[in-house]
Amino acid sequence: MAKVWFVGAGPGDPELITLKAQKLIARADAILYAGSLVSIAATQWAKPGCIIQDSKGMTLEEITGWLIQQSTTDDATVIRLQTGDPGLYGALIEMVQPLDKAGIEIGVVPGVTSAMASAAAAVETLTLPELTQTVIFSRVEGRTPMPEGESLAELGQHHCTLCLYLSITLLKKVREDLLTAGWHDDSPIVVVHKASWPDDQQIIHGTLATIKELCKQAGINSQAMIIASPALGARYWPEIKKSRLYDAQFSHRFRKAIKTQE
Ligand code: SAH
Repeated sequence: MAKVWFVGAGPGDPELITLKAQKLIARADAILYAGSLVSIAATQWAKPGCIIQDSKGMTLEEITGWLIQQSTTDDATVIRLQTGDPGLYGALIEMVQPLDKAGIEIGVVPGVTSAMASAAAAVETLTLPELTQTVIFSRVEGRTPMPEGESLAELGQHHCTLCLYLSITLLKKVREDLLTAGWHDDSPIVVVHKASWPDDQQIIHGTLATIKELCKQAGINSQAMIIASPALGARYWPEIKKSRLYDAQFSHRFRKAIKTQE
């Protein structure tokens, strides 16, 4: 039976694709990739004769139609190759439902999402003991309305780490909303453009007040992750609260605490 795989290609660097994805690509009969974001390099492992098409310019119906068409051959392995992880802003369910209706078997392979690649590029941690232990993946309201309770002005009130997708052209609103949520104009912000792309990655360090202008100067207006977090820049702090995981006084499943004299 044919099977359609929704495969996360990772954030851009072809070496950040999973082994599972690489193996599937190598045996795929047809690959439809999201051209605007997924580097063609991700298809470099395809076997000769594999049908490879860019989905740039295709509507949802055309995409699902193509996937269904390619699945008519018995035992075909068909791949929809998507940027980052397919479960984040990837229209996954919109594509899965028509395939379910057509009775086609489906699999999903997770990928490294761009928030993680951006944090890695900037050598930032998204969690730091006693400062922030929570990460919110979200976006700011633009043309796509946000569900109730999920506006940045509300989410920002948690003062935890925020990774904002699809929002680089909305930095004015990011600032307004975070100020409403009690953040300050000198709160640090990092923007990473094309995280992990071998030749194009750019990292911009700024504050809530300066980041919009800095991105404008750098010409960044697409494919960028905005990270706002009280943990940003921790690498350069003279002192940080250490994780208890490596604390000699702290027992866990794999290590007994060193007893200290009372
Ligand atoms: N499924 C993808 C997200 C798709 S939405 C994932 O898991 O990463 C597209 C948004 O993702 C862009 O607007 C941008 O905010 C972010 N993005 C994708 N690739 C990126 C990259 N290499 N560097 C920074 N941000 C990226």
